[in-house]
Amino acid sequence: MSEDTIFSKIIRGDIPTAFVYEDEHCVCINDINPQAPVHLLVIPRKPIPRLVDASVEDQALLGHLMVKAGEIARKAGCGEAFRLVVNNGEQAGQTVFHLHLHILGNKHYSESGL
Ligand code: 5GP
Repeated sequence: MSEDTIFSKIIRGDIPTAFVYEDEHCVCINDINPQAPVHLLVIPRKPIPRLVDASVEDQALLGHLMVKAGEIARKAGCGEAFRLVVNNGEQAGQTVFHLHLHILGNKHYSESGL
């Protein structure tokens, strides 16, 4: 779980990638392999590997990511219907070990949402 993931390279600008949104705490990019008509990634600048690696000192940052994800989803045209997903750990499907929120929108989900 190296700190220097593909997302750190994107955040540093080593891999040129358009930011849908950015501020001092996070960036948002389009997923390279979208799983829904809108598939965005909200990524903290701080390289926390997994959600479970976040600590009490990260509480405000995690809240910021959630609030921004809601704003970004609406601006991306998802209306009120979108999902936020965090994969924690390899067995849950996490492939990039730099915490990120998936915003998935404009796709029909079943009633259960799963
Ligand atoms: P995870 O599987 O870790 O929850 O999600 C990682 C996501 O990052 C995947 O959906 C994958 O498509 C996306 N991704 C991986 N590499 C890149 C990249 O270089 N650029 C962008 N924009 N997305 C990437």
